[in-house]
Amino acid sequence: MTTRSGGFRDRQLGPTLSHAARHPFYRDHWAPHLGAPSARDPWALLDALPPTERRHLSEDVTPMLDDGDEIVAVGFSSGSTGSAMTRYFTARERELAGMFTKAGPARTGAVRPLRLDFPSTWHGVGGADTPGAVLIPGTVVDDEHAERTVHMLRRRFTAPGVASRVSMLSGGVIGIHAFTRYVVDHEIPVSDFAIEVVGLFGGYPGRRRLAWLGEYWKCPVLDSFSVSECRGKALVCPNCGYLEFDPQLVAQALALDSPEPVTSGTARLAVTELYPFGIAQPIVKYLTGDLVEVLDDTSACRPGHVGGLRRIGRAETSVTASANGTTTVLVPSQVLFDAFDRPGVCRADFRSTLSGMTVNDLAQPYVHASLSETEGTLRLRCRYRPDGSGIDCTADALAALLSWPVARAWADSGRLVIDLVADPATAPPRSKFA
Ligand SMILES: [Zn+2]
Repeated sequence: MTTRSGGFRDRQLGPTLSHAARHPFYRDHWAPHLGAPSARDPWALLDALPPTERRHLSEDVTPMLDDGDEIVAVGFSSGSTGSAMTRYFTARERELAGMFTKAGPARTGAVRPLRLDFPSTWHGVGGADTPGAVLIPGTVVDDEHAERTVHMLRRRFTAPGVASRVSMLSGGVIGIHAFTRYVVDHEIPVSDFAIEVVGLFGGYPGRRRLAWLGEYWKCPVLDSFSVSECRGKALVCPNCGYLEFDPQLVAQALALDSPEPVTSGTARLAVTELYPFGIAQPIVKYLTGDLVEVLDDTSACRPGHVGGLRRIGRAETSVTASANGTTTVLVPSQVLFDAFDRPGVCRADFRSTLSGMTVNDLAQPYVHASLSETEGTLRLRCRYRPDGSGIDCTADALAALLSWPVARAWADSGRLVIDLVADPATAPPRSKFA
């Protein structure tokens, strides 16, 4: 198990598995395990159960409805991680799960902070965790809306019990990044605002983009990993990448080649959404398609983060090699994208309608990796589209690729050769976000 058990997770795992076992898909999928002696311990049962795959969620986990309950909302997962998936929410789930999302009380005697939110329709949940905050909507759909958002951040509020200035920005990566590009391009100084923290979600911003945001806002920039298809997130530790999952989520690290749980190295992420979340469509031990690394003494920034997980990329866009039934992650996708997220490489366009958007530097770089083998040596070919600036980034990009210890070890021992090829015909990335 990778998320710490205890508290809410201990209380809810048993009811979650019992509830899911009423669904025809899980009843069949889990049939050999439900009567076993180990089924009495929910944590042991979860370890033994076969994982749920994306195709199961989109085809087999149809909504189920108890007597007296009704479907009241429909959500979509983005589709940037596969085909878009429909999730149905019932009145009962909304009532019970709503207790998690209610604004908490402000600290005694303190005013409630003001948080400006950029909503993100399909791309995840998360942002700054701010109990008791009063929320203000922000948007950057065009210049007029961006100006109004600037106005909200500049103004002083005079409502009783509420802070006088907006101190937090929270929202999807696209909104926060496009808004920041707008204020930078319009030379609006950060001293016009009173922002103390920026919270992001719904994308996989690389180190360079996080640094750029921090440079402008001059405050901590916190990223959240929006767990695919789930209603929940994990805050990303800015130092070591440790994922602090919401209490309603249980995360497991499963081996790359088998459903076995692992306690070290690289692994596949499986997530369970605890009851009352997922009443109509339970999500149990779901392989999200993400690769993770189990943090050890050398990779975690503090003792509490040892044994936790760090996201290293998407399985489908990472470079892996298989031999004798063992899969090795040669270059995780986040390392690949970070390596090419630099001047000299073309990046995907969010097609913003802002006139001030002079630099297209928001989304993922145009880079594709392919692997071939000749006489026992693997050749990794990274094709990227130059951005027309004439900047040669190959030495820096190669060094960044070799910062992944497996790539370094394989290259040093002559088992891996890496070629970087500037090719103007390189196709756009499959997803702007992943
Ligand atoms: Zn950490």
